[in-house]
Amino acid sequence: MHLKTLTVRGFKSFASATTFQFEPGVTAVVGPNGSGKSNVVDALAWVMGEQGAKTLRGGKMEDVIFAGTSGRPPLGRAQVSLTIDNTDGALPIEYTEVTISRTLFRSGGSEYAINGATCRLLDIQELLSDSGLGRQMHVIVGQGQLDAVLHATGEDRRGFIEEAAGILKHRRRKEKTVRKLEAMQANLTRLTDLTGEIR
Ligand code: ATP
Repeated sequence: MHLKTLTVRGFKSFASATTFQFEPGVTAVVGPNGSGKSNVVDALAWVMGEQGAKTLRGGKMEDVIFAGTSGRPPLGRAQVSLTIDNTDGALPIEYTEVTISRTLFRSGGSEYAINGATCRLLDIQELLSDSGLGRQMHVIVGQGQLDAVLHATGEDRRGFIEEAAGILKHRRRKEKTVRKLEAMQANLTRLTDLTGEIR
């Protein structure tokens, strides 16, 4: 599995549609200060489901939409698409090439898609979590983050390892199921009370 192309449109400093093509191996992005190198990494994190505006170096999520310059008005939406080569089947989906997309509208709505079909954020997170591209984004190590890992508590470190091992996904599913079971138990208790009253 490797990242093939990243297309950004209206995302941060990339007002016009811009496509980056990656070859297998190491890719270096070089450029002057403030030219948008980190914005490329932010676009990767964002399309893979990042929900924290702060992680994306903004105050609120809307800050990822192109805010305009002296010569160009602000845009109404940000869109990022990432195409992943899946010939080795690392992603649990029957396609040799997978494109995930995310769109955010200034009016507030957002859309996600896998190979052009609209989906939920959860579908993208689940698709990626088995490949190591999990929700916590430990595949993207930002400036200063190495220090944070080195100084993490034992519990936090365990979280990193669980995510890398693919356990976190099952833990989340278990938590969801336990919540459903509790709701079911409450309904059952209520039902028993009602049948008791009727008798
Ligand atoms: P450095 O080498 O200093 O870390 P960089 O090349 O990584 O810089 P970025 O931090 O990726 O640069 O880009 C910063 C630029 O992106 C700034 O000029 C900023 O104005 C611009 N920018 C960020 N968000 C938006 C937005 N929503 N709309 C327009 N421009 C934006």
